[in-house]
Amino acid sequence: APPPGPEGAQSAPRPVPGACFTRVRPTPLRQPRLVALSEPALALLGLGAPPAREAEAEAEAALFFSGNALLPGAEPAAHCYCGHQFGQFAGQLGDGAAMYLGEVCTATGERWELQLKGAGPTPFSRQADGRKVLRSSIREFLCSEAMFHLGVPTTRAGACVTSESTVVRDVFYDGNPKYEQCTVVLRIASTFIRFGSFEIFKSADEHTGRAGPSVGRNDIRVQLLDYVISSFYPEIQAAHASDRVQRNAAFFREVTRRTAWMVAEWQCVGFCHGVLNTDNMSILGLTIDYGPFGFLDRYDPDHVCNASDNTGRYAYSKQPEVCKWNLQKLAEALQPELPLELGEAILAEEFDAEFQRHYMQKMRRKLGLVRLELEEDKALVSKLLETMHLTGADFTNTFFLLSSFPVELESPGLAEFLARLMEQCASLEELRLAFRPQMDPRQLSMMLMLAQSNPQLFALMGTRAGIARELERVEQQSRLEQLSMAELQSRNQGHWADWLQAYRARLDKDLEGAGDAAAWQAERVRVMHASNPKYVLRNYIAQNAIEAAERGDFSEVRRVLKLLENPYHCEAGAATDPEATEANGADSRQRSYSSKPPLWAAELCVT
Ligand code: AMP
Ligand code: MG
Ligand code: MG
Repeated sequence: APPPGPEGAQSAPRPVPGACFTRVRPTPLRQPRLVALSEPALALLGLGAPPAREAEAEAEAALFFSGNALLPGAEPAAHCYCGHQFGQFAGQLGDGAAMYLGEVCTATGERWELQLKGAGPTPFSRQADGRKVLRSSIREFLCSEAMFHLGVPTTRAGACVTSESTVVRDVFYDGNPKYEQCTVVLRIASTFIRFGSFEIFKSADEHTGRAGPSVGRNDIRVQLLDYVISSFYPEIQAAHASDRVQRNAAFFREVTRRTAWMVAEWQCVGFCHGVLNTDNMSILGLTIDYGPFGFLDRYDPDHVCNASDNTGRYAYSKQPEVCKWNLQKLAEALQPELPLELGEAILAEEFDAEFQRHYMQKMRRKLGLVRLELEEDKALVSKLLETMHLTGADFTNTFFLLSSFPVELESPGLAEFLARLMEQCASLEELRLAFRPQMDPRQLSMMLMLAQSNPQLFALMGTRAGIARELERVEQQSRLEQLSMAELQSRNQGHWADWLQAYRARLDKDLEGAGDAAAWQAERVRVMHASNPKYVLRNYIAQNAIEAAERGDFSEVRRVLKLLENPYHCEAGAATDPEATEANGADSRQRSYSSKPPLWAAELCVT
């Protein structure tokens, strides 16, 4: 499509026949101001740390990374893609708030695609404004970098720039609009092409079995597929240059493996994506599109981090099967380039096996089982998660704590270890908050009546799961009311004593054949420290940084970014642990970010 005319003209929706990108221009922001830069992410592009005259450098960064000025050679474009959203084919979506800027080819031969997210409307913005606000941008910026440093495949974020331009997302209870600052994130990845990029060849009509306008578009599917494979999977292109079907099969196999690997990583760090639609699934197996994501605090397999996911489709424990479902949609979209039976056979062969393999490998490392791989380890891990669930234990901190579990039975450190473990279990106060009923009792009984009289309508509304959760909360609440702190404690101790006994027995098996016990112990502690993070981007940590930034103070965003650059264990006082070296506690809301979330975090709601 031709470049857009004067400002504003670009936002008119228009078809782009024979293409899957359309040229756009960022819409400038008023007074862009740098919130933070990620030095390691910018280093990918060959951009060094800011020079001595920092204020000037920051102003320049703000200009380019807001889209107010275009980098030399930039050719901004918006990508047209489709997607299945919450299980339904949603037709055309596309980059409504993000735009491709171009690619940076580095001296070392790497190629990085740049994107601005929030730089204004595109032809795919539909009714929306193509803007992002400070809070969502800070969350995406920090989490992209946090995930990278955790070792999880992800798109990166190089910069976050806010401005004096505003948009309204919410209205206060008093009816006054809430103005929020327009903010842009510079995203970096080898490519942002998604599963949904291949779904544009399937029109909404085709989806419902009627003839649609997809006729004649197979040539673009072929081009896009050729481009993706030859650019991002060159080994596969080279190995199958003469057989397209074999090449496409090898490609789909690799995407399947990478996706399984990625979601296994998520499960092991307690990451919930929140919006696992096919348009948010990277063709490279990267975590992409950070919206209402969340890390588990209190372990709950049914945790739903996205407040608008009212059926719990994207709950933590459902992520592996949802990723597999999304791969099925990709397989369908690759037809006829990849025969569907072949795609489905690959999916059946690879996904569960790769997920289980990587998940168990990582879990063994998290538990410090460094020598043997035993079939019984699966049960040990399930039992651990069950114990965490029963005792409301904090996911991140419980794993972190396990590295100090005294291996010897009579160790004097055992009592201290158990005391610290009990601190990670949910207190009565936390549980009462977590399970507080969310509906008016009268509203609940109305809903129950409706459910009984018209089950079909009820299922359609998707509220069945919500009601079930509410009933569970009511029941939990009455149980909790009858429970004393002492009873809770002793029950928790009982659950943990059981699991720790099984854990110790399993460790003994590793130790038996280890020869040098001291070396074995040192090795397992090293592996555990490298596998169990001390810091993850919990909602309350992001929230602290956001609230300070909304008051114009970006120092907390920058401090949290630094902290998340070293998420794994550091020796106390080591220079790499910012919390160990800096004076703490200036802000009463701010405590060590390796602690459990404060009670106020239970009220946080992300959509
Ligand atoms: P998401 O749920 O973030 O993956 O977004 C789904 C679709 O909505 C994508 O096509 C986005 O580009 C589009 N979208 C999200 N936010 C905005 C926005 N502020 N303005 C325009 N389009 C948007
Ligand atoms: Mg998206
Ligand atoms: Mg989004």
